[in-house]
Amino acid sequence: MFLGGRMRHDEREKRVMNCEEFEVTGLGIERDATASAAEQAAAREHASTCSRCAALRDSWRLAKLELSSLGEATRAAETPERVEMRLRQEFRTRHRSVPARRAAVIAAWALATAVKCSSTGFTSSSCTTGV
Ligand SMILES: [Zn+2]
Repeated sequence: MFLGGRMRHDEREKRVMNCEEFEVTGLGIERDATASAAEQAAAREHASTCSRCAALRDSWRLAKLELSSLGEATRAAETPERVEMRLRQEFRTRHRSVPARRAAVIAAWALATAVKCSSTGFTSSSCTTGV
């Protein structure tokens, strides 16, 4: 039985994992500290009997290895200056636009208040409270 995508922790019964379960839990189970010994054994056994999942596991391992070596190879790489300049420019544009929008809202509110006050008369109490 599976509970929440994981095999139940019942060490007495031998578990059989199917392809779908292997894809969900079996691929990274070797390094999963939360996986039980029964789960790891079921994943190993499934991969030993299913060529499709064994190929998937090997492909997964190769991809992880290549990503790791790519990470090592590009560790010292720096961002090209023009890309960094463009990112900084975009950041400044986005963070400058918020105060500008806020100023526009305040100006619109002040204009609406002025129009309301001029139409109702400046001595009205609504003009002195600003509402
Ligand atoms: Zn399989």
